[in-house]
Amino acid sequence: MADATPTHETDPTGADAREHARLTALLEALPVAAALFRRTGTLYALNTEARGSLVVDAKAPLASQHWNVVLLPLGDEGTGCLREAAAGAPPVTRAMALGRDGRRVVVRVVPFEAELLLLTVSEVADREPRRVVSERVDRELAALLELTPAAVRMTDLAGHIVQVNALAGLEHSAQRPTTVRELWELDAPHDIINNRPLSFLDTPAMRALAGNTVRRQLLEVRRLGAQRVIEASASPIRDAQDGVTGVVLFDLDVTDREQLAGQLQDREGREAALQEQVSYEREQLEQLVEERSRALVASQEEHVRERRLAAVGQLAAGVMHDVNNALNPIMAAAYLLRHHAESPDAVRDYANRIQKAAEIAAATASRVGRFIRQEPVHAGGDEALDLGALAEEVLDLTEPMRLQRSSGSGTVDIVRQISPEVRTRGLPGEIREALLNLVQNAIDAMTSGGTLTMRTFVEGGDACISVRDTGVGMSAEVRERAFEPFFTTKGSKGSGLGLAEVYGIARRHRGTATISSVPGRGTEVTLRLPVDRGVQAAAEAEPAASAVTPLHILVVEDHDDGREFLRRILRADGHEVDAVGTCADARDRLAAAEGSPAFDLVLTDVGLPDGSGWDLVRHVRARHPAVRIGVITGWEAQDDRDAESGAEFVLRKPLRAAELHAHIAGRPRSASPTE
Ligand code: ADP
Ligand code: MG
Repeated sequence: MADATPTHETDPTGADAREHARLTALLEALPVAAALFRRTGTLYALNTEARGSLVVDAKAPLASQHWNVVLLPLGDEGTGCLREAAAGAPPVTRAMALGRDGRRVVVRVVPFEAELLLLTVSEVADREPRRVVSERVDRELAALLELTPAAVRMTDLAGHIVQVNALAGLEHSAQRPTTVRELWELDAPHDIINNRPLSFLDTPAMRALAGNTVRRQLLEVRRLGAQRVIEASASPIRDAQDGVTGVVLFDLDVTDREQLAGQLQDREGREAALQEQVSYEREQLEQLVEERSRALVASQEEHVRERRLAAVGQLAAGVMHDVNNALNPIMAAAYLLRHHAESPDAVRDYANRIQKAAEIAAATASRVGRFIRQEPVHAGGDEALDLGALAEEVLDLTEPMRLQRSSGSGTVDIVRQISPEVRTRGLPGEIREALLNLVQNAIDAMTSGGTLTMRTFVEGGDACISVRDTGVGMSAEVRERAFEPFFTTKGSKGSGLGLAEVYGIARRHRGTATISSVPGRGTEVTLRLPVDRGVQAAAEAEPAASAVTPLHILVVEDHDDGREFLRRILRADGHEVDAVGTCADARDRLAAAEGSPAFDLVLTDVGLPDGSGWDLVRHVRARHPAVRIGVITGWEAQDDRDAESGAEFVLRKPLRAAELHAHIAGRPRSASPTE
C-alpha cells in the first residue's frame, strides 16, 4: 500500500514523478479549481486555480499539506466531503460558501483510481469575481438613480444620509442635510391628507427605519426655496439576516401635477357651475313658456268671452232697435185711434197700420228665434224634402229680385246644377227661408252683375245645397262674423239676420252651414244636411180646405186681453168657447163636462198662475184621452217638451189667425216665415 502511494515530493524522480506530472497537467486543463488528495488525507496534486483559492499557504511543500489545512477556506463542510469520499462513498456533491467572502460554490469529490480522490470547486452561477459584480451593480444603480424623476436618499441604520442622487443634491442648496433629522427640520413637512404638521417620528424615513414600507405619502415640504408637494416613499434596506441596515427615501415632486389637478378641479367646478346656470336658465325659460302659454290660453278664453258678450250685446241691441221701430207706429196709431174712434175708415186704417208694425216686429222675433232655436227638429214634426225642388221654388220666388238687379247695374245669370234625388228630412218652410236669405245675399253681393249658381249634391253622406256668386266676396273678418245676428255691412239696408237664420236652421236640421269666400272673386255658402235614406215620395197634395166644423173649445189663458181676443176669434169662426184663467179651473171644467156636452179641444197657455200648461196637457192625456189639446206659447226652445207632453200642436206667439184655424181644423200648414 505504501509503495503504491505516489510520493513525488519525497521522490520526485522516476515513474512516480512522471505520473505526478501527467496528473498535474490533467488538473491544469480543468476549468475549475481542482485538487487530488491521497485517501490518507495529504495533498497529491492541484492546479493553479485551486492554489489561488483553496490553499492557505501556497509556499509550503505539498507533502506537508493535509486536506484539513488545504480546505480551510471551505470550512468543515469541505473536509467532510473528502472524509465521506475516503470512507468509500459514491461521488459526493455539495453546495456551500467559500471563504470569508461567502461566494457560493459547488464542491464535488470523486474517487480517482484506487488511491486518490479528485476534488473540484466550481462557482454556482456567476463566474465573475464578486468585486467586479459589485462595481457593476453600483454603476447601474447610480445610472438608475440619476434617471429617476425622484429625489433618492439612502441612509444607514443611524439615519445618516450616505448616498443621494443628483436631484436630491439640488433640493437643499444652502445647507445639505446629513441626517434624516436635519432633513425633517429643513423640510418642515406638512401632512396634506390629514392637514397637520408631520412629527419627526412620523416621517417616512423614521417609519422605514422602524421596518415599515411607506408608499406615496402626500406631503408639503420646503424645498428648492419654495413650498412643494411631494409623494414620499421609504423602504428599509435589509441584510441577509433580515435586519434593517438603512433606508431608501424616494421623494417624487408632484407640485405641478397637484396644481394641474387643482386647475382641473377648478375647471370642472366652473363647468359644473356653468351647467347649473344653463339648467337654471332652461328652467326659467320653461317656466316662462308655461306662463306665456297660460296667459295665451287665458287671453284666448278672454277673447272668446268678449266675442260672446259682444254678440249677445249686438243681438239685444238689434232686437231692441227693431221692437222700438215697430212700437213707434203702434203707439202713435193707438193714440190716434182714441181720437178718431167714431170714424170707421180711420179705425180700419190705424188697425192695418198697427197690424203691419206688429208683423214687422213679429218677423224679427221669428228670425231671431230661428237663430237661437237650436234644438233639433224632432222626428214626426219634419217631412221628406227634395232639395232640388226647394231650390227651383226659391229661384222662382227670387226671380223678381234678380230681374230688378239685372235691369239696373248689371245682369245676374242663373246656373242650375241640380242633382236629382238629393233628399233630407226637415221643415220645408225653414229650408226655404234659409235659401231665400242666401239668394238675396248673393244678388246683393253682385252689384255689377255676375253668375249665381245653385247646386244640390250628395257628399260624404250629406245632402248638400249651395249658393255661389261671383260677387265682392268677404274679408276674413266679415267671414268670421257673418253668422252673428244683426251683423251687417249693409248699413240700414241690411238686417244682419239672414246668415244667422241660415246658421240656426242648419243646426236645427242636424246639419252645418259653411262659407267659402275670396274677396273680389265671390262667395259660396253650403248647407249640409243628413241624407234621408227612406226614399219616400214627397207629401201628397193637401186636400182643399173645407168649411169649419164647429167645436166645443176650452181656452186656458191668464192674461185677460189674450183670453178675450182668443175667445172672440174662435167665436167668430163659429166655435163654442169656454175660457178660464187657471189650471185648477180648467181641470174642474173638464171634470164637470165629462158627460155631454164634453169639450172637443183645449187650448192652453204655458205660464199659468197655479202651474204649467204642460202639466195640464199631461192631465188631459191621462184623464180625458178623447179631448184634443193644443199649446200656445211665447217661449222658444221647447220642442222636446212638446214631444213628451203629448200636445197635438204647439203654436207660438204672436198668434196668426190662419195658423190657428188650420191647426184646429186638423190640417197644420208647414211653418212659414211670415204670413
Ligand atoms: P245682411 O244681408 O242683412 O247684411 P246677413 O246675415 O245675410 O245680413 O249677412 C251678413 C253679412 O255677411 C253681410 O252684411 C255681408 O257683409 C256678408 N255677406 C253675406 N253673404 C254674402 C255674399 N254672398 N257675398 C259677400 N258678402 C256676404
Ligand atoms: Mg242677408
